[in-house]
Amino acid sequence: RAKAAGRGEVSEFTPDLETSVLKRRDLEVDLKRAIAQGELSLHYQPLVGLERGEVRCFEALLRWSRDPGGPVSPADFIPVAEASGLIGSIGRWVLHQACREAALWPESIRIAVNISPIQFRNADLVLDVFQALEASGLAPDRLELEITESVFLEMNATTISNFRELRALGVRIALDDFGTGYSSLSYLIRFPVDKIKIDRSFIKDMGTRHECLAIIEAILTLAAKLSITVTAEGVETVEQAIMLRARGCDDIQGFLFSPGRPDHAVKGLVATLPSRFAEVFRDDQETD
Ligand code: C2E
Ligand code: MG
Ligand code: MG
Ligand code: MG
Repeated sequence: RAKAAGRGEVSEFTPDLETSVLKRRDLEVDLKRAIAQGELSLHYQPLVGLERGEVRCFEALLRWSRDPGGPVSPADFIPVAEASGLIGSIGRWVLHQACREAALWPESIRIAVNISPIQFRNADLVLDVFQALEASGLAPDRLELEITESVFLEMNATTISNFRELRALGVRIALDDFGTGYSSLSYLIRFPVDKIKIDRSFIKDMGTRHECLAIIEAILTLAAKLSITVTAEGVETVEQAIMLRARGCDDIQGFLFSPGRPDHAVKGLVATLPSRFAEVFRDDQETD
């Protein structure tokens, strides 16, 4: 369909591509306005400890309620923000907002913030993190930065110094969507991380595909030997939670417990989640 009629040439824009380029431009213009008008907010999704069932952390998830138009998924607007350079100011806002809100939560609870690979290649990141901690008074070890393996795929000198300086600040680093990237495991030697988050795709099929369960078990063994904490992402059923608990997974996150919720819901989740899922945390259950 990319062939231009008659001359057998490949045209530069197919109608589909043209629509998507226009859509992106439109999103970009609107995203700038959204930032200025305060249409962005954060939701918080709990990470629950599998041993005792307590909430240990909340992941900050960016929400954009476009007016008019309604909610836009971060999967759609984050790439636009990255391509247009807006990710710098958005990422800074997320860091400040997340730290400010988390500073008022119980001290035992951490906050996890997603950091785009573009932010991680930029020398501003360390100062942004430092200032967010300073302004909020949040203890550095309560802040966890989630990065993906792609950070290690396209490294520059700044990537390396950012990693070192963030560790020196005392913030924690988690590897998000683990197992889906293309980088080699050897980066775990050069860049020690505190946490691995097993991607949802493995959890989804762990009950039906033995390959998925095998990969999860291998990740848990590797992480235990490297003293890295493991979170399973996208846990939706009690069965998945029980299987992960039996295999020594540290925390789980997913719709089973809660989707992302606004800051005002955090207190209630901390108080009520453990008792609502007592069946997961019993010590006498049968597991396979
Ligand atoms: P992520 O960091 O892997 O976040 C987890 C995503 O999985 C979230 O989608 C969450 O709502 C969804 N999720 C959680 N539990 C379940 C479950 O049990 N089942 C299913 N089907 N999904 C679940 P969300 O909020 O749409 O975010 C998508 C992605 O957008 C995030 O993936 C992250 O990469 C990016 N993102 C979100 N907020 C930010 C941000 O502040 N900064 C940056 N740079 N990226 C962000
Ligand atoms: Mg994440
Ligand atoms: Mg994730
Ligand atoms: Mg994921």
